[in-house]
Amino acid sequence: MAMMNRSQYLASLDDGRRIFAEGQEVKDLASHPQFATAIKLVGDGYEAHYRPGEDASGPYFKIPRSRQELKEILEDLLTWDMVTVTTSQGLLALLTAAARIRPARPEYARRIEEYFEYCRAKDLRCVQAITDAKGDRRLPPSKQHDPDVYTRIIERRQDGIVVRGAKLHISSAAVSHELIVMPTKNMKEGEEDYAVACAIPVNAPGVRIVNTSYAPRERIEDFPVSSQHNMPEGFVILDDVFVPNERVFLAGEIEHSATFAHALGLWERLGGTAHLAEFGDQLVGLAQLVAEANGTDRIHHIREKIAEMIIYATLVRAGLEAAIANAEPSPEGWYFPSELYTNAAKHYAAAEYSRMVRHLHDIGGGAIVTAPSVRDLENEEVGPFIRKYMATKEDIDGEYRTRLFHAVRDFTADAYGGWQLVTMIQSGGGLYAQRLVARKHYDMERAKDLARKLAGLA
Ligand SMILES: Cc1cc2nc3c(=O)[nH]c(=O)nc-3n(C[C@H](O)[C@H](O)[C@H](O)COP(=O)(O)OP(=O)(O)OC[C@H]3O[C@@H](n4cnc5c(N)ncnc54)[C@H](O)[C@@H]3O)c2cc1C
Repeated sequence: MAMMNRSQYLASLDDGRRIFAEGQEVKDLASHPQFATAIKLVGDGYEAHYRPGEDASGPYFKIPRSRQELKEILEDLLTWDMVTVTTSQGLLALLTAAARIRPARPEYARRIEEYFEYCRAKDLRCVQAITDAKGDRRLPPSKQHDPDVYTRIIERRQDGIVVRGAKLHISSAAVSHELIVMPTKNMKEGEEDYAVACAIPVNAPGVRIVNTSYAPRERIEDFPVSSQHNMPEGFVILDDVFVPNERVFLAGEIEHSATFAHALGLWERLGGTAHLAEFGDQLVGLAQLVAEANGTDRIHHIREKIAEMIIYATLVRAGLEAAIANAEPSPEGWYFPSELYTNAAKHYAAAEYSRMVRHLHDIGGGAIVTAPSVRDLENEEVGPFIRKYMATKEDIDGEYRTRLFHAVRDFTADAYGGWQLVTMIQSGGGLYAQRLVARKHYDMERAKDLARKLAGLA
C-alpha cells in the first residue's frame, strides 16, 4: 500500500488486460506506439506526484472540505493528465452519490467509502464508464431489440453479480486500472436489472477494450498539440463480468439510478468548465498572435472579434468561480459545487466554443489549413521560398508563422481540433443534459415573481 512511480505504473499495465486497436489485440501495451503518448503522460503524472511511505497519497485523492479546497483542487487539476483527472472526478462523483443515498442505503455508501480508500491506498487510476450503447434512443432499456444495449445484471449470486453490456467512448480506459460503472440514466419500474453501479478492474475476466485515437502517426512536427495530448478512447465490452458484493454500489434500486449520473455529471462538468476557461484564454492568445503575425491586429473588425473572445473566456472563468463560491457542504462536511452554476457555465462554454473557433479561423486566414509542412521548410530547394513567402514583416519570420498556423490547425481544425469540437458538445452527457439540470436548479418562482411585478400582476 503506497504510491506508484512511473516504472511501477508501467509494470501495473501488464496485468492480463485485453486491449484491442486497429483490428489487433495489443499484447504489449507499454511499448505499443498508439498508446505511447498516453502512457508517457500518465507515467509523468505518477513520477511527479510520487512520495515514498505507507501513508503517502496523491492530491487527486483529496476530498474538498471547504470552498477554498475545492478551488485548489480545480487549479491542480489543470496540471494533471486526463486519467488522473478522471480518477478524481469519478471518485468524487461516487462520494457525492454516497452522501445522497446514505440515509436510504447506508451499506452502499459504506462500500463506496471503502472503495475510495482502496484506490487511494494503491494509487490506482479510474475512469468513468457511464455511457451505454443505448440502441434506439427513443426506447427505454426494457423495450430495446437487444436487451444488452444498456448494461445490466444478468445474474445475482450470493457473493456478487454478473453484468453484461458495453460502455462507449470511455476516455483513457486502456491505460487506467479501474472502471467506475454507473447507469447512464434514470431507470423505471421493470428496469431493476439496469440500475447497476459498480467498480470493475480493467483486467477483470470478460472485459475487452477496443481503442481509437487521433494520435498522429507521422509528420508529428505538424501536430504540435495532438502529438503531445492524446488519450485512447475506449469501447468497453463487459462480456458477463463478475463483480463481488464489496464493489457493487447499486443493484436494482431504481429510485437511486439517476443519483450516480447526476453526481458524475456535476464533477465532470465542473472539471470541463475549468479546462474550458483555459481553452478560452488559449484561443484568445492564438487569435492575438496570428493577428500580430498577419499585421491585422489593429484592424477594427479583428479587434472586435478578439474582444468578444476575451469576454467569452472571462465569463467562463466567472461561471467557474461562481460554481465554487456557491458550493454546498454535504452532511459529511464534503463540499460539492453548485449544480446551477456548474451546469450553466459548462453549457455556455461548450455551446459558444465553436463560435470562438470561428472567430479564430476568420482572423487567421486560409494558411490555417494550407501552410506547408514543417518538413518542407527543411527542403533545400523549396524551404527558402516557403520561409520568404510565409514571412510577413521584419520580426515575423516564415518558420514562426508556419508553426503558428500548424498549432491553430491542429488545436482547432484537425486531429485534436476535430476531436475537441465534438467533445465540447457531447462530454458531460451533452448540452441537453446540462440544460435539464440548470433548469431544475434555477429559482423559477423568483423569476416569475419578478415578471409578475414588472407586469403589475402581483
Ligand atoms: C471524446 C469523448 C469522450 C467521452 N468520454 C466519456 C467517458 O470517459 N465516459 C463516459 O461514460 N462517456 C464519455 N463520453 C460520452 C458522452 O457523455 C456521450 O457522447 C454523450 O452523453 C452523448 O451520448 P451519445 O454519444 O451516445 O449520443 P446520443 O445519445 O445518440 O445523443 C446524440 C444527440 O441526440 C440527443 N438524444 C439522444 N437520445 C435522446 C432522447 N431520448 N431524448 C432527447 N434527445 C436525445 C442528445 O441530446 C444529443 O443531442 C465521451 C464522449 C466523447 C465524444
